[in-house]
Amino acid sequence: MKSRHYESWGRMFGHDADTISVEDLKFNPKATHGHSVLAYGMGRSYGDVCVNEDGLIVPMQNSRQVLSLDKASGLLTCQAGASFADLLPLIMPTGWFLPVTPGTKFVTLGGAIANDVHGKNHHVSGTFGCHVTRLKLLRTDGTITDCGPQQNTDLFRATIGGLGLTGIITQATIKLVPIKSYYIHAETLKFSNLDQFLELSKDSASYPYTVAWMDLVNTDKDHKGIFFRGRHSEQTHRKDLPNPLPSLGSWANVPVDMPAFLVNPWNMKAFNRLYYHAHRNSAKDVFFDRFFYPLDTVNNWNRIYGKNGFFQFQFVLPFERTDKVKSILGALAKSSLGSFLCVAKTFGEIASPGMLSFPMPGITIALDFPNRPEATRLVKELEQVVSQSGGRIYPAKDSLMSPQTFQSSYNVQEFIRYKDPGTSSNFWQRITSK
Ligand SMILES: Cc1cc2nc3c(=O)[nH]c(=O)nc-3n(C[C@H](O)[C@H](O)[C@H](O)COP(=O)(O)OP(=O)(O)OC[C@H]3O[C@@H](n4cnc5c(N)ncnc54)[C@H](O)[C@@H]3O)c2cc1C
Repeated sequence: MKSRHYESWGRMFGHDADTISVEDLKFNPKATHGHSVLAYGMGRSYGDVCVNEDGLIVPMQNSRQVLSLDKASGLLTCQAGASFADLLPLIMPTGWFLPVTPGTKFVTLGGAIANDVHGKNHHVSGTFGCHVTRLKLLRTDGTITDCGPQQNTDLFRATIGGLGLTGIITQATIKLVPIKSYYIHAETLKFSNLDQFLELSKDSASYPYTVAWMDLVNTDKDHKGIFFRGRHSEQTHRKDLPNPLPSLGSWANVPVDMPAFLVNPWNMKAFNRLYYHAHRNSAKDVFFDRFFYPLDTVNNWNRIYGKNGFFQFQFVLPFERTDKVKSILGALAKSSLGSFLCVAKTFGEIASPGMLSFPMPGITIALDFPNRPEATRLVKELEQVVSQSGGRIYPAKDSLMSPQTFQSSYNVQEFIRYKDPGTSSNFWQRITSK
């Protein structure tokens, strides 16, 4: 067993942990000596779903082999520690793309399944779990179960969005989507308030990718923003599908923790104003990396919040509760807290197979906050509004949700039947505490 430091992306949670390898768990499950285990992908979860302070970590970084790629059908099978950044250079030159991708490519296949991640195409493609055709699950008693939409269905449904708590996903098969170009035909449209954002979302139903950014700090009423929509380009570019794929490097790095006082209302206002004015209404083809993963261009950007870290609050509310979304945005604008990043998106009707999956039809908003008592207080108040209005909070991003809110918005009783009793996480301890 080796000890290493593990932390979450928001850096509010971190600990040294002993590790146990997938192989040891498979062949000698007693090697845990009764400690709980939790798989760790790339730690891109903002909150505490990826840490396990009282137990062992199963690091996945050595399990990243691609096992097969059927170039005719687009079925890809690989070990669960393979990251999207590993996979893209392999699949794209063969004319295939990921069916769903979050806003960073530094996530593993196992992490994407365990959080049942969503992308800009939720309204047409559902969650990542909708595209998993098979997975192998290693339980802490050493047994391995094949699961899929038609095989051991309940365990499959519990594992999709199961937060690593049904066991270790060792490998999975996903169905890719065909592409003809590395470019996205991207349109940028400015809007003046939430109603206009909703109209644009409705009018963009034929665009597979939509997302918006909103300025919540330079206003106290209307929330202006920028709507981005796109589709895979059909146009032939001179450099279409060259092999190898051009490098997906980062061009900047935050080498150390920035002083926390730099994250203040003046800087947030200036940043938001600059971001808004740096964009114009436009339509052009952009390289996919820029369209899907703009934040990946700055390595370790999570250090800008200083050593106390930050947290994200992402919720979804049904469309019928748009009034509540407006009152939450209003409360945020009135507080002096602000957020560098406010991302908005509408979720569609496609249901996920996952028991604990987060998305539901409605409006989702994601906000980043520095880890300060006044931000925590406000978010706890907003949590009440979300839970009393039939909404949900996203566990992958969460650091603060109460056990009551989690249990009233997710079907925990059904999930518990499939949980592996040998797994745990800080998140699980928190939301099952009395
Ligand atoms: C910049 C940025 C943008 C993001 N954008 C989005 C977005 O648009 N949509 C979205 O949904 N999310 C988004 N996220 C969140 C991120 O996609 C998820 O948290 C993702 O699950 C992280 O994957 P990971 O491999 O780093 O897993 P980790 O964070 O290491 O782990 C996540 C969970 O998966 C479990 N897990 C990991 N590997 C396995 C395995 N092999 N078997 C069983 N369980 C496993 C862990 O135990 C843990 O519970 C974003 C995060 C960042 C930093």
